[in-house]
Amino acid sequence: MTIVVLTGPPGAGKGTQAKVLAERLGVPAISTGDIFRAGVADGTELGARVKQYLDSGEYVPDELTNEMVRERLSADDTHQGFVLDGYPRTLEQVGVLDDLLAEQGHALDGAVVLEVGSDELVQRLLARAAAQHRSDDTEEVIRHRLELYTARTLPVLEAYRTRNLVIPVDGSGEVPEVNQRIIAAAALLS
Ligand code: AMP
Repeated sequence: MTIVVLTGPPGAGKGTQAKVLAERLGVPAISTGDIFRAGVADGTELGARVKQYLDSGEYVPDELTNEMVRERLSADDTHQGFVLDGYPRTLEQVGVLDDLLAEQGHALDGAVVLEVGSDELVQRLLARAAAQHRSDDTEEVIRHRLELYTARTLPVLEAYRTRNLVIPVDGSGEVPEVNQRIIAAAALLS
């Protein structure tokens, strides 16, 4: 059983690296952002409820996010553990995740934090905007998402740091280099 949170600012490469980490650990990668985007693309009820937040770069309200995560974590594929990509992002979500895991007699094994300097982040986000046409990758929304990360998600990292759960990983440079660093971090977890 390995339960890991992968976090870092928008543009740090969470999605790509969460998949590498999850594969290495033999568990699913669960991305709240991917689940929300899929809901929007498929026109589900969840998608309709979250679209405005995604488009403007706001966080989806905790209640809705927590409810979705609770349901996702009850699926059969989570029995050996999972990598959470992009959750928790607020202190409220940290508490809910702790409670959810405690209900099942589990606890978080670590929080891998992808660290990337702000200039490189903005460059990457603008490149992704050009390549993927994500609705939340415009310059104004990017700026807002970075601000929200600082205001609401850095306290999450602080909370995990005081619990000695943080494993920092240098997320700068090319994807294969970061993959190697993530794999080294995985060895500390399993
Ligand atoms: P991401 O793909 O992780 O960058 O997430 C894309 C968007 O989905 C975010 O900008 C938020 O609007 C929403 N989102 C994803 N995860 C969360 C979360 N844990 N709490 C609130 N909103 C979230």
